[in-house]
Amino acid sequence: MTIFSKIIAGDIPCHRVYEDAHVIAFLDIGPVSRGHLLVVPKEVKAQLHELSDESAAAIGRVLPRLARAVLAATGATAYNILQNNGALAHQAVMHVHFHIIPRIGSAGLGVGWNSGTLSASDASELVTNMQAALHA
Ligand code: AMP
Repeated sequence: MTIFSKIIAGDIPCHRVYEDAHVIAFLDIGPVSRGHLLVVPKEVKAQLHELSDESAAAIGRVLPRLARAVLAATGATAYNILQNNGALAHQAVMHVHFHIIPRIGSAGLGVGWNSGTLSASDASELVTNMQAALHA
């Protein structure tokens, strides 16, 4: 049980912006920028790949609408969607959540992007293995 389950259950308060049968969205208490919003499926799963199709669809249906609300409320015109999976990938709360982080001046998500190169042989192996996993 994480703190987000307690928020979903109404046991601890949050600054709620949106709620439906499958999703709740509330302000992040440690905002990276003003208007930083968390979008959380009510289904109790730690990581994105564990989510049911139903929860995934419910999140996908409201994310763009919530991003529009963040932009309208803050005046921002740029934003990042961040979704961390696993402690190694910076996840602190082990219940799936999407961050909507507006870029406001210099405030917003800092992105380290260590790009490499993709060889033809590695691309071929990856495509083969991912397609096999998809069809398994
Ligand atoms: P992550 O590193 O992706 O797991 O991010 C967890 C986020 O949850 C952080 O940005 C925290 O500031 C935020 N957070 C933790 N507890 C609460 C809470 N009670 N209400 C709102 N946001 C929270």
